[in-house]
Amino acid sequence: LNIGQSSSGFAKKPIIIVVVGMAGSGKTTFLHRLVCHTKASNIRGYVMNLDPAVMTLPFGANIDIRDTVRYKEVMKQFNLGPNGGILTSLNLFSTKFDEVISMIERRADELDYVLVDTPGQIEIFTWSASGAIITEAFASTFPTVIAYVVDTPRSESPATFMSNMLYACSILYKTRLPLVLAFNKTDVAQHEFALEWMKDFGVFHAALDSDHSYTSTLTRSLSLALEDFYKNLRSVGVSAVTGAGMDAFFKAVEASAEEYMETY
Ligand code: GDP
Ligand code: MG
Repeated sequence: LNIGQSSSGFAKKPIIIVVVGMAGSGKTTFLHRLVCHTKASNIRGYVMNLDPAVMTLPFGANIDIRDTVRYKEVMKQFNLGPNGGILTSLNLFSTKFDEVISMIERRADELDYVLVDTPGQIEIFTWSASGAIITEAFASTFPTVIAYVVDTPRSESPATFMSNMLYACSILYKTRLPLVLAFNKTDVAQHEFALEWMKDFGVFHAALDSDHSYTSTLTRSLSLALEDFYKNLRSVGVSAVTGAGMDAFFKAVEASAEEYMETY
């Protein structure tokens, strides 16, 4: 018997949850909510902040990029703007990431999850060498799941919904890791419309018909192309503000991690 051990030799725990999403989708607030939920439910979490430019965090981070890299100093030293400063900070941090992995490995027995916040601007993490280095370092050592946070009220028009889904899809391509869509801000807008659109493109097409602001032919074809993508991910509705959907989120993460361990 190898309880807690997958056939591929991965230790079952901790599961790494990397939180990504468009700027303003609510990543940091969501992470804070995850931290509160783990504390209240006796789940053992470890928190990592990878945003070098964040001023104040609503949660205490066990590992914080800001302890190692001073983003303002990096900007000055390399004569960079804000985005270049964040990217270079992340590059500098990624060169030491083996130490971060070892630190988590040493604590693996005491941890269920590692919760990871990423920089506000999504592409800095998802389209950079250092983002790839960090994700791969996680994924080669622990079961790793990407939580893609969606701003639900801002995705109510079919066109913005589609561009958000295409972005999520590109992240799947890039990371090849299981993806959980967290439709956030359900306290403002329920996410059922999104589930409908993903399940039944007829409903999505009907919604497009009333969306005169957009040339809908491309969106129509894309919705057909994304059918397989939709089938292979898990979606949950959450509210980082009220805490709704937390149990469903963790269930989706567990199921994705199981799948990950069977596949890799
Ligand atoms: P990030 O840039 O993705 O880290 O987003 P933040 O966590 O900084 O949140 C962006 C804005 O969305 C803030 O004003 C939050 O208060 C708000 N926000 C985040 N989550 C929720 C939510 O579940 N419901 C509502 N109503 N607002 C939210
Ligand atoms: Mg943030």
